[in-house]
Amino acid sequence: MNKTFDLADILDAAVFAAEKHQGHVRKNSQHSPYITHPLLVSKVIYQIGGIEDSMILVAAILHDTIEDTDTTRDEIKERFGEDVLSIVLEVTDDKSMPKMERKRHQVAHAPELSYKARIVKLGDKLVNCRDILNDPPADWTLKRRQDYIQWGADVLFQIRGTNPQLEAAFDRVMTRAEMELGYQIEPFSTVN
Ligand code: ZN
Repeated sequence: MNKTFDLADILDAAVFAAEKHQGHVRKNSQHSPYITHPLLVSKVIYQIGGIEDSMILVAAILHDTIEDTDTTRDEIKERFGEDVLSIVLEVTDDKSMPKMERKRHQVAHAPELSYKARIVKLGDKLVNCRDILNDPPADWTLKRRQDYIQWGADVLFQIRGTNPQLEAAFDRVMTRAEMELGYQIEPFSTVN
């Protein structure tokens, strides 16, 4: 086992995030507990991306805590350290920005992310786009699903070259989306 792989930290992050996201549900048809999302992001990074750096796996589990819960920077820093905090902050959206602007901002600023934050971003986009393809929220139109996956693709195109396995998995999602949702993903979209 790689010496940077610390299972205790990963389990601690899972418990922390589960408590923080308690009561939150996802928008899919079954309204799964929200915690399944960050756990899946960490899982694809490990299983598909081959990443064994526990700092990245922990940051993946915590990636939505500051954005979506009452978690503070200090809490993350004290419990998981400054390096984990900095990865989480890199992938945390500024919620004071209007939604469309936030989406554009994510695409434009993706190339500035550190390697570790790029890995979390790739895992997040892979899991979200796969969910929108396989099990979308009941009230989403086809157009909304297409636009969402296009946005994920826009972010991916900006950071391609980070992790070939995660990118190949995303490519398979895009190919399936094109077939199953009946549209062509643009290499660089202007809709977002
Ligand atoms: Zn996420």
